[in-house]
Amino acid sequence: MTDAREQLRLVLLGPPGAGKGTQAKMLVEQQGLLHISTGDMLREQVQAGSDLGVQAKQFMDGGKLVPDELIIAMVELRLGRPDVARGWILDGFPRTLPQAEALDQTLARLGAGLSHVAFFGVPQENLVARLTGRRTCGGCGAIWHLTFKPTRTEGVCDTCGGELKQRADDRREAVEKRQEVYTAQTAPLLDYYQGHGILAEIDADQPPQGVFTALVAALK
Ligand code: AMP
Repeated sequence: MTDAREQLRLVLLGPPGAGKGTQAKMLVEQQGLLHISTGDMLREQVQAGSDLGVQAKQFMDGGKLVPDELIIAMVELRLGRPDVARGWILDGFPRTLPQAEALDQTLARLGAGLSHVAFFGVPQENLVARLTGRRTCGGCGAIWHLTFKPTRTEGVCDTCGGELKQRADDRREAVEKRQEVYTAQTAPLLDYYQGHGILAEIDADQPPQGVFTALVAALK
């Protein structure tokens, strides 16, 4: 049995487009942690056509948040599985104060609280271009960007040859809504975690490798 105090239990916090998913993938590759992305979990449910997926899709496509009770139940179920014992990265959760409080209660029950919260800061004006140019591989999930990280052949993943897709919520109208929602509902979590004394602020307005170096240093 591994000692829970040595495990990384990390929340990635930051506006949509700050690079949380990219950094989570890099950290998973380097440290073999679990990547728990609520956005990815919801997109899988939408794809599978489950009840949760059908309910969530209407909120997601418009750039709104899925209601707390649905998302909290989904995360609690995930954190109850045995594979979480090796440590994990929560990406995209919590996004509201009630979610943060529910997470604290769940982790207190499991006897393994958060070890770190990393906040990825990027000036607001740079976020729209990051999101509207983002493309995701339908095959392996790799994240590309039309300008900042183009593939060799447009529309085709360099890693697996899969077809690149644009997320419905990366279109401009939804992106603007997501930024508004972030400012109103998620940004207040900074104060919440500052109060817990586990918040590390990372300059995410730089190429991914630089962000990764800063992140790894903050986790030491
Ligand atoms: P993401 O991939 O993290 O940007 O999430 C995509 C979309 O899924 C969001 O715009 C929300 O509609 C929904 N979503 C993901 N995580 C949450 C959450 N913690 N609370 C509410 N909705 C969420």
